[in-house]
Amino acid sequence: MWSFKAWRRQRTLERNPIDPAHWAEVRRRLPILDGLDEAELQRLRERAALFLASKRLTALPGVELGAVERLLLAAQAQLPLLHLGEQDWYRGFHEIVLYPDDFLSPQRHRDAAGVEHEWDDARSGEAWQQGPVILAWPGVEASGGWEGYNLVIHELAHKLDMLDGGANGLPPLHRDMRVQDWAQAMQSAFDALNAELDADPDAETAIDPYAAEDPAEFFAVTSEYFFSAPDLLAEAFPAVYRQLALFYRQDSLARLQRLQAEHPDYRMATNATNG
Ligand SMILES: [Zn+2]
Repeated sequence: MWSFKAWRRQRTLERNPIDPAHWAEVRRRLPILDGLDEAELQRLRERAALFLASKRLTALPGVELGAVERLLLAAQAQLPLLHLGEQDWYRGFHEIVLYPDDFLSPQRHRDAAGVEHEWDDARSGEAWQQGPVILAWPGVEASGGWEGYNLVIHELAHKLDMLDGGANGLPPLHRDMRVQDWAQAMQSAFDALNAELDADPDAETAIDPYAAEDPAEFFAVTSEYFFSAPDLLAEAFPAVYRQLALFYRQDSLARLQRLQAEHPDYRMATNATNG
């Protein structure tokens, strides 16, 4: 059956071809794509092209945004969606703004006594409920390895979380998932991490302690680990890994373990410290 959507998709791909040399460069710079099969890589490449055709990337002065850089960003943005079907998971925003460096973000908090506190917080990324995604370019460039850090996936996980309302650590789950299972896995891991940090604020936690901030950050940080250090995540919080595997419909741990069996480099990868 002829489909307008499929026709338009095809036309967009034809009008926005990806240079094979650019794709090769992006593949080289993104080890987290290693181990994907040919069909997955082809889909990722097409979806990256469609993503770039549908979102506005705004680079502030100091960010050199060429075709390779745009593709580097788009491929990482599409990795979490690779097995989630064609629906528009990133419908919640139209623009990504790229800053040349970490930026100050005004924060406001009302304490228990009712006093408003305001301060500026240094950030490398931000995702607003009704607005753009902001990324500091050095953070994007530092992402892409198996090192438990991925700024792009972190901020876009916030956008997935926001699809069904506010950022609360609960994205719209699939029909074969149960909110109860999700909540139980996330809550007990979140509580365990917080208890560890309450006992010792300098504790060497298994994952970035920033995850203990609130449930939204817990989902964003564990999503980051799911794609960039699934072994650390699965070891520390196996139930969280399983829920994320159901949500993203990927088994990143199996992929990493295949790579580790084939090549010693991948065994070293996740020894890096959190940051
Ligand atoms: Zn965050």
